[in-house]
Amino acid sequence: MGTSTGSGRLEYQGLDICYMNEQLLNNLIVSAIEASKNSYSPYSKYRVGAALLGTSGRIFTGCNVENASYGATICAELTAVVKAISEGEHKFSALAIHGSSHQPKPNQTYYAYPCGICRQVLSEFAEPDLTVLIVHSENDYLKRTLGELLPDSFGSANLE
Ligand SMILES: [Zn+2]
Repeated sequence: MGTSTGSGRLEYQGLDICYMNEQLLNNLIVSAIEASKNSYSPYSKYRVGAALLGTSGRIFTGCNVENASYGATICAELTAVVKAISEGEHKFSALAIHGSSHQPKPNQTYYAYPCGICRQVLSEFAEPDLTVLIVHSENDYLKRTLGELLPDSFGSANLE
């Protein structure tokens, strides 16, 4: 469990997600699902939502924002990271991602893994033990770490 701060927020820095408040974890998952509803995805017809938990306890959400010039498309995870960094949050505990087609096939389970670019961007701001939840529904999700998704990565240490 987290410890209360003066602001009433909870801090989870350095704690494994298994110690996290179950309500907070559920909030993160629901936030990712909700964020996907704002997706602008007329080209791929694939909605993605992400919710990034900062160590301050704040949750930053994002969705995919596509563009007619496909290369200008922005992933949901990047939207969330950029929002967080631009608001002063630089350390993260967990990320939840939810993706689904505009017209899902019956009984099809969608697990939207972060793309390679998002894994690299996350590695700039998160440790390999960052928890990544790949969410199909509130009760159906996969749990990975960033290190599992991006082993042997290139990072700032390589440039020192
Ligand atoms: Zn991506």
